[in-house]
Amino acid sequence: MPHRTHIQDPPLHDQVGRLYFRAVLPAVTLALAFSGEWRGSPVLLVLTLIAALGALVHLLLPERPRDVFRYGFVGVVLAFLLLVALAGPQQTLRGTPATLSVALLFTPATLMAWTLLFADRPRTALTLNAVLTTVMTLLVWRWQTQGLQPGPLLNLPLLVAVISATAVYYALTFTQMNARYHAGERDRLRDPLTGLLNRRALNERPPDPDGDLAVAVLDIDHFKRVNDTHGHVAGDRVLRAVADVMQDTLAGHGEAYRWGGEEFVLLLPDPGDAPALVEAVRREIAARHFTGGQRVTLSAGLTRLSAGEDLTLAFERADAALRAAKDAGRDRVVLAPPAPPLDRRAAGR
Ligand code: GH3
Ligand code: MG
Ligand code: MG
Repeated sequence: MPHRTHIQDPPLHDQVGRLYFRAVLPAVTLALAFSGEWRGSPVLLVLTLIAALGALVHLLLPERPRDVFRYGFVGVVLAFLLLVALAGPQQTLRGTPATLSVALLFTPATLMAWTLLFADRPRTALTLNAVLTTVMTLLVWRWQTQGLQPGPLLNLPLLVAVISATAVYYALTFTQMNARYHAGERDRLRDPLTGLLNRRALNERPPDPDGDLAVAVLDIDHFKRVNDTHGHVAGDRVLRAVADVMQDTLAGHGEAYRWGGEEFVLLLPDPGDAPALVEAVRREIAARHFTGGQRVTLSAGLTRLSAGEDLTLAFERADAALRAAKDAGRDRVVLAPPAPPLDRRAAGR
């Protein structure tokens, strides 16, 4: 079930994509264009145009088909570089000191950027990087055999390969750390036993803008007896089964939380339907024979969150209704009396 307390930031590859196409490529375009070096080098001219085009297309087209940008851009760059590497000593595609500097500078940076740009597809990232590293090593080796040498550096192709591998290693490490962080962040908000959202997720839940929500607090009746009679493993099985019933009954129309031991909270976006939904959960639980033949019932209190009201206040009302359900004999849903007017409203704000 999607949940709003999950990290809402766009995923890493989207963030990097925006940065890459909206900031890095324009900067590269400007740097290459203002250097004027492209006048003597068709290779640089084409690279400048590709960078400019990538930035422009990203700016002009809507965000949606993001794969078109990244695959398209990366494909064009690789195809062009391969063409240059294979072209041999033809006059137009020869290397110049400027192209060599650009190659040395930009290869590691590009590898890092592409790894992050494809952070969601590590295999693709690795393949692209392998291709780019090979092409650039070949290219620099070609240029070197044509007599290009930027200074006292001895073995340029080797240097490019080593620096590239290092860049890829760092970028991949970062990608993995990022993936682990997000997995940890998901776990942080989930209850490991039932897979439901946990109490922390409920606490960190941002308020609904429209605020129309029903809040139910549910508690399994005499659950201690299940543990005492059948053992805690059987008790755990019942908890999981009860959670499954809640998920199935909600069928995506609401959020189920494990609030504590055998207490659950349901947030239901359609308050009109809420009593029927909670009643359906209660009925389904009461009708079930759990593994090992145990039968359990549950009691629930239900209330409506008024617009702008703090969730804690509604929870307290539903919890009081739950206690009333217990006092009235359990295995029932009790509606809380309507919320008193909010202080804010009473104060006339
Ligand atoms: P009531 O109808 O008044 O709610 O009675 P109850 O027995 O359900 O309530 P009580 O609070 O006395 O007992 C709750 C029990 O839930 C006690 C605890 O051992 C059990 N419990 C809490 N968390 C877990 C869990 O993760 N697994 C299992 N197996 N039992 C749990
Ligand atoms: Mg309880
Ligand atoms: Mg109980």
